[in-house]
Amino acid sequence: MKSFLEQNVSQESLITLFSQAPVAMCLLTGDNFSINSANPQMLEIWGKQTSVIGKSLFEILPEIIDQGFKEILENVYRTGEIFKGNKWPVFLEKYGKYDEYFFTFIFAPVYNDDKKIIGISIVATEVTDQISSERKLKESEYRFEHLIKKSDYPIAIYRTEDLYIEFANDQMLKTWGKSSSVVGMKLEDALPELEGQPFIGILKNIFKTGETYASKEASADLIVNGKLQTFYYDFSYKPLKSPNGEVYAILNMAVDITDLVMAKKEIQEREKKFRDLADSMPQFVWTCDTKGEITYMNKSWYRYTGSTENENQTSLVKRMMRPETIRKVDEAWEECVKTNTPFVMEYELGDPMQKGNYRWFLGRAIPNFSESGEVNQWTGTFTDIDEFKQLETQKDNFLGIASHELKTPLTSLKLYTQFIKNNLEKAGDPKNANVARRMDYQIDLLTGLINELLDVTKIQKGQMQLNESLFDFDKLVDEVVEEQQMTSRHKLFVSRSGTIGEVFADRHRISQVIANLISNAIKYSPDADEVHISTSLHGDQAQFNVKDFGIGIPQDKQSKVFEQYYRINGSKDYTFSGLGLGLFISAEIIRRTGGEIFVSSVEGEGSDFCFRIPKYKN
Ligand code: ADP
Repeated sequence: MKSFLEQNVSQESLITLFSQAPVAMCLLTGDNFSINSANPQMLEIWGKQTSVIGKSLFEILPEIIDQGFKEILENVYRTGEIFKGNKWPVFLEKYGKYDEYFFTFIFAPVYNDDKKIIGISIVATEVTDQISSERKLKESEYRFEHLIKKSDYPIAIYRTEDLYIEFANDQMLKTWGKSSSVVGMKLEDALPELEGQPFIGILKNIFKTGETYASKEASADLIVNGKLQTFYYDFSYKPLKSPNGEVYAILNMAVDITDLVMAKKEIQEREKKFRDLADSMPQFVWTCDTKGEITYMNKSWYRYTGSTENENQTSLVKRMMRPETIRKVDEAWEECVKTNTPFVMEYELGDPMQKGNYRWFLGRAIPNFSESGEVNQWTGTFTDIDEFKQLETQKDNFLGIASHELKTPLTSLKLYTQFIKNNLEKAGDPKNANVARRMDYQIDLLTGLINELLDVTKIQKGQMQLNESLFDFDKLVDEVVEEQQMTSRHKLFVSRSGTIGEVFADRHRISQVIANLISNAIKYSPDADEVHISTSLHGDQAQFNVKDFGIGIPQDKQSKVFEQYYRINGSKDYTFSGLGLGLFISAEIIRRTGGEIFVSSVEGEGSDFCFRIPKYKN
């Protein structure tokens, strides 16, 4: 070799090779390792200029002394053993920056002619870039593995068509109810209970089709804790393909949604129970959204109407109403929607059995509130009250006829009684005359009751006429008070803030209202001695008040006292006679006069009834 170099290779050629080789090279001489020569690549690695030639390696790179290179170089120098370093890390201070670099290098002894070691040659390649990309890859691989291992979701990889479990994270093992010993086994051996279930077949098929398979809410029967149980998953089988497109494994990712499905099933079952309940009711039960669109009707409704679920029930209900009531119902409904208050209304719906006929229904609906307190739907019912309505009409008719029939003999009775009373007085029989007077008083009471019944009949038939005229309101009050005072032990006090003067209304009917309010005040204050009556003028409104100190009316009943036949049960100590019609009639008279009637009352303390009517008709 030596002779070949000496004989055939020029000094220049060797220098060219040395300086242009793509590897870094240098020659160190002497035991202080002074740099004899270094090619540009080596100078680049060191981050030095040619001025370092002649200096000791450790002088120019003091940082490598403590990194073991001193011992290694000295060992090569001493023993002549070549030293090879593969991907070694070296910390170098280059251009003022201390950094880690990687090299693959060879330290080889250099001999003189006498076979004596006179120096060391270094050949090195920098592999920093390679190492850092290897490191990055490792890190991301590690991160990925860590991610999969620690994933909250079950993940597994099956390799080859035999479906060997290559990987299964803790969650997947937990899902299977197995230990990590199943890794490496065939899936069908690890989970024999899968036989007869579709999963193995689907997986094997993916090796043929190469297509991802995904399923939602799939049920799988697995033996967990020694028990075959049904679980539910959203899962996917994704083929992993080699660069040539061949499927080599399948990535199985799953989400255990058993709890969710069970909860959903429970809700469905509960809903079914409620639906069954609603369906078994004779009433029509329904729900509608906040816009009033019907979203559910129970079976009774479909049976009754003969309609199907595909038909629009909202418009069917509208079609079934009497055209003239639609607006009234809509207005009442809209008011309830605006105020979120229950809807209650009686109206007629067409009878599907008899075309052209209508039946009465009680429509009710209540708002259903979401957790955030907003109305999310309305639940309602239609109750057939047609028979009840018919009975009510029969009863009203009967009362109308009965009171009418009673009225005539009663009028005669009154005349006869007065005749007897007058005769007895004339005959000087005051004792019997007094009996006749009492009879006359009782006949008056009876006439009053019958008149009330007749008035109600008139109101129901829309036949209550008002004979309006101008009359002195204050005078009327005086008259009625005087009349009432005659038969009452209570002292009736009248106070006026100014005169009201003339009023245009039905004098007789207004006197009826005043008399009713005063007699109630007397009747319902058995332990009191006084009743306070007052009148006042508010703009062009005449106001009349009767205040008593009696039993009062509970707050929740105050609005009801103006309803037909409404009576509050008397206390244990007293019973009060009456039909529960006086206030109903009074309210109707005041309403038709264009006024208002109201009450404020405290139970146990007394009541204050009041009405206001316009002085003149608008
Ligand atoms: P009634 O003939 O029963 O008195 P009303 O229609 O006049 O019928 O009154 C209806 C109900 O209202 C009464 O049964 C009574 O319970 C209550 N009520 C009316 N006026 C008073 C009052 N001044 N104080 C307490 N309760 C009253």
